[in-house]
Amino acid sequence: MSAVRLYPIFADLAGRSVLVVGGGNVAERKVAALLETGAIVCVGAPVFAQRLVAWAENGRISLISGEFAEEWLDHQWLVIAATSDAAVNAAVAAAAERQRIWANVVDDATLSSFQVPAVIDRAPLVVAVSTSGAAPVLARLVREQIERMLDPSLGALAALADRWRGRIRGRLTDLGQRRRFLERLFQGRVAEFVRRGQIAVAESTLTRELDDAAVTPAQGSVVLVGAGPGDAGLLTLKGLRALNEADVILHDRLVSRDVLALARRDADLIEVGKEAGTHHTTQEGIHALLLEHARAGKRVVRLKGGDSFVFGRGGEELEFLHAHGIAFEVVPGVTAALACAAYAGIPLTHRDHAQSVRLVTAHCKASLDTLDWPALATGRQTLAVYMGVAGLERICAGLIAHGRAGTTPAALIENGSRSEQRVVLGDLANLPQRARAHAVKSPALLIVGEVAALGAQLHWFAAAPLGDAPEPTALPRVA
Ligand code: SAH
Repeated sequence: MSAVRLYPIFADLAGRSVLVVGGGNVAERKVAALLETGAIVCVGAPVFAQRLVAWAENGRISLISGEFAEEWLDHQWLVIAATSDAAVNAAVAAAAERQRIWANVVDDATLSSFQVPAVIDRAPLVVAVSTSGAAPVLARLVREQIERMLDPSLGALAALADRWRGRIRGRLTDLGQRRRFLERLFQGRVAEFVRRGQIAVAESTLTRELDDAAVTPAQGSVVLVGAGPGDAGLLTLKGLRALNEADVILHDRLVSRDVLALARRDADLIEVGKEAGTHHTTQEGIHALLLEHARAGKRVVRLKGGDSFVFGRGGEELEFLHAHGIAFEVVPGVTAALACAAYAGIPLTHRDHAQSVRLVTAHCKASLDTLDWPALATGRQTLAVYMGVAGLERICAGLIAHGRAGTTPAALIENGSRSEQRVVLGDLANLPQRARAHAVKSPALLIVGEVAALGAQLHWFAAAPLGDAPEPTALPRVA
């Protein structure tokens, strides 16, 4: 039987009575959702789950004990049948049909006269998805897609617009002018402040914008976004949103194509950074570009590989923006250490092997010389070494010279999280030679410590590890 075409409605249940038949967990979930709408909820069942009893004791719902009887439906607007007994559910549906009360039977579209959609909740903004019962799993997938599209702060934004509706209408009587103003409101600075949780600032900005509803030059801003290690699935929802709103995106070479593909179509993409080989190669050059575009009123996204605050010079760029009075926001990204560890099956800490993790950079001889080698060579810890390919030999030798055993497991993860990822396993003594043999290139992350050996068993992504690692030595557990 093909699904009927449903008529979507949003029901105002505040102060209206609703019956839920069933006393288990499913009923409990339905009651929780109903209570949020302000419905007067009555639950009927022979026995009740604990939370239902607690709600009843607090006076939030009322209970009817016993087997379902048709008179339970008297004076109800809606009924939800949520029992595990198909016969009871059918009886509820039939009785509701006789009394012309809307009924939903959980997980039974054919018995239901109304269905509860999959919901994206940004109250007061609510998006409901239904396949008319044809394919609930598809509805769930669509819900997930929409969920990703809508920032969590949209609810607060809708509530704010509601509070201001009268005033905006009063000040901007022309419909087109009002529409443009509201479009700016929902996509501009006010929305941005709401997103940052700064409602008071949002309201004062709104006051000013309303006062000056004539066209004013837009204020530029910069969002520092961590793009993650390569797999676009690791970009955060906030990062994606920033990419969709950007006028200009200044990105490092390390940022993967897959992530860049998510950017707004007409955003201006500019590659910057050390290896780019363009005129934007110096840090000062990047600062100048940030300033130029922000001052021109653009929304600038500064997109960096991994996380901006982990060996990403994010701090310097923010100091510069702060000094020049440019507004900024920071969206974290999955840093290489976390991503490479995850995608190589190497837990960075482990109760048997490592109590702490250090993120270390070793990008040149000078930085190698200033490292605290004795501290790095102590046991029970994991080292995640960034930019360590060129200095690999010196790093391994340095650790051994300061007392870490040559048999300490170590792993080199090249292009972590990308389809071309390679993992080379070994120990401090043999890893440099193996890395040479396999011609490992940057970007690659070095992980040193007992945990590295676990990659031999726990790898799950892309190609199997090259080389092998010594058995990890289990250390006595502390607690
Ligand atoms: N801000 C970045 C790090 C920049 S430094 C972050 O948080 O990840 C650049 C170094 O990061 C590279 O030399 C390499 O050591 C490491 N790196 C970044 N992406 C990587 C990847 N996909 N695989 C392996 N190492 C990576």
